[in-house]
Amino acid sequence: EYMAQIIFDHVTKKFKNETALHDISFEIDKGEFVFFIGKSGAGKSTLLNLIMKQEEVTSGKITVEGRRVDTMTRNKVPEHRRRLGIMSPEVGLLKDRSVYDNIKLALLATENADDRMREKIIKVLGLVGLAKKYKSYPDELSGGEQARILLARALSVQPEILIADEPTTALDVTIQDQILRQLRELEKEYGTSIIFITHDLGVVAELCDR
Ligand code: ADP
Repeated sequence: EYMAQIIFDHVTKKFKNETALHDISFEIDKGEFVFFIGKSGAGKSTLLNLIMKQEEVTSGKITVEGRRVDTMTRNKVPEHRRRLGIMSPEVGLLKDRSVYDNIKLALLATENADDRMREKIIKVLGLVGLAKKYKSYPDELSGGEQARILLARALSVQPEILIADEPTTALDVTIQDQILRQLRELEKEYGTSIIFITHDLGVVAELCDR
């Protein structure tokens, strides 16, 4: 039986008197490239935090890859989060580690870490066009290259769902475009569902499904 990868069913999230999300329903299918667009304070981070179960719903149901997130028990949450690829400036690169080690640490935190680790790291770096930079430290890279390393790190765990949280805010237009095109290719090639969160209508361009 077919089931969408992410389902929000009448989700409401309140913080004390503040209603951050009111009665939200949507479905995201496998391989869709979806943008969440809204000005600051619209509720984008809250939505992401609900998907990751960093916040609890006030009411409604959330299903991710067939698993109910709103009723999920605490002990299942780490595994749930490991299945999601998160690309966010809030989870930046460690400055005192090489590009290679930054990605290795992400892989070590997942259950699928194995002896093919080196191969995987070089592969994801190749996907973002930075295989040659594996020995570099974050400070030796441009802003755009750092963003691509964040993307490579998110992809290294082979997520079914990739969530890119304002990845392009600090980047110039050409790099935004590069990242978006790279995401678009991934979606086509691997059927990864991609959620791209932004306050900037400009980045939406012609690339999104919804
Ligand atoms: P966005 O990511 O679109 O900028 P947020 O999801 O951060 O928006 O915030 C949505 C609304 O919920 C805002 O009005 C914000 O003040 C409120 N909010 C978010 N997190 C909290 C919190 N932990 N406590 C109280 N209010 C919050």
